[in-house]
Amino acid sequence: MEEIRRQWLETVERYRLSAKRPDDESYWCRRLDTVSADELHAIHSEKLRVAVGYVYEAIPFYRRKFDRIGLEPGDIRSVDDLARIPVTTKQEMMQPEAKGRPAKADYTAVDDETWKERGWQLFATSGSTAEPRVFRYTGFDRAVWSWTNARAMWAMGFRPGRDVALLAFGYGPHVWLWGVHYGLNLMGIPIVSAGGLDSRTRVRFIERYRPTILACTPSYALYLGGLMREMGLDPAQSSVRFLFVAGEPGYGVPATRRRLEELWKAEVAEFYGCTEAAPSAGGYTCAAAMARKQGPAETHLMADTHIWETVDPSTLAPVPAGRRGLSLVTNLCSEASPQLRFLVGDFTTLALDTCDCGRTHPRAIGGFIGRADDMLNIRGVTIFPSAIEDAVRRVPGSGEEFQIVLSRERELDRIKVVVEPRPELASQSHPELARRVESEIVASCELRMEVEVVPHGTLPRTEFKAKRVKDLRAGPY
Ligand SMILES: [Zn+2]
Repeated sequence: MEEIRRQWLETVERYRLSAKRPDDESYWCRRLDTVSADELHAIHSEKLRVAVGYVYEAIPFYRRKFDRIGLEPGDIRSVDDLARIPVTTKQEMMQPEAKGRPAKADYTAVDDETWKERGWQLFATSGSTAEPRVFRYTGFDRAVWSWTNARAMWAMGFRPGRDVALLAFGYGPHVWLWGVHYGLNLMGIPIVSAGGLDSRTRVRFIERYRPTILACTPSYALYLGGLMREMGLDPAQSSVRFLFVAGEPGYGVPATRRRLEELWKAEVAEFYGCTEAAPSAGGYTCAAAMARKQGPAETHLMADTHIWETVDPSTLAPVPAGRRGLSLVTNLCSEASPQLRFLVGDFTTLALDTCDCGRTHPRAIGGFIGRADDMLNIRGVTIFPSAIEDAVRRVPGSGEEFQIVLSRERELDRIKVVVEPRPELASQSHPELARRVESEIVASCELRMEVEVVPHGTLPRTEFKAKRVKDLRAGPY
């Protein structure tokens, strides 16, 4: 076991090129960021072969899965054999605990002993749709994350010597923040850590320490900009040039992105990933995509450290690039959680051609607008909450907060969208606001929804993932 772990870590390490500093102005790691299809095939094949052997030995969850179908690690000889490995879902990962076994995760390669010897930090999924699951990562993972995140933030255009980042997140067990923190450390970009501070103090920090990067949720960036205005300051005149958003779909929701850009006069960037298998920058926005204001959002998927696929939502069979499917990832860069074919579960379409930025890493066209299991099913019509968000935010008089309320009346699903107006909108204009939001929703979602306008300040504000959907259909919420 120790031998195979050593072999795996050595393989990952051998491909951690430009580990300490960037190659040049354009690429942190020129060779891997612009890797050719042939070289990528060779890297994937080598890493996958070693990873499968390691995973089989170190993760009981996968050993059971392989044994059940008679698959042996030696059967996976190259990336061409990838589809022989069955898909893993988060529901499956949950099972050992649900069956009354000790609440000990056996879906990662970190047992109690490894944790004590090599452990770095514990993270938990945020549990927007399921029970939170816990992942313990090692010091090795921290080094790799710092590097992948630095590569991704380099692609965004963040630079030491010029940029300063203010991280407006509580420093809780959420992977994103910590990965960004250590990535910025590696890049040499100073951090103003603003976790645990109230919003007015954060505004004063922006004035005093002049950060160029503001990292927070999209909802919070809109809220904080509004608060600055209330305090007689203009966010567009502030030092902030980049909004680095996380926790909710932001960059991929056109009207939200536009609002953020206009309010702050800043570019919007985001990472894409999941706590389970791609906690570092699995996906990232490049400067070329940020500069493009027309057409769909595009998010790169880091290619040499992960294998990204899209699969059919019902059969889970791979779909070719250019066709819509659910995102699926194999992690080829982790000691603790090298998950194989884990279903992240966002709808997207992959493009494999080279981006304007010169990177060959595939792009998810349309970005990411929500997990498939966040989709609402209303009288047989499926809609993403982010589609409603886009419609609400296209109407100029609507404020930054809204909520979707689902209920059931005489066996029929009802959906109501509760909207706050902009603070300056006079109350006699509220009925008109409701009508405009209603028609935007009909135009984009093809479903009529009741719209209620409530006074500014009524809906809850949050620093982390905003709870946009209130489902009353299954009894009290
Ligand atoms: Zn690009």
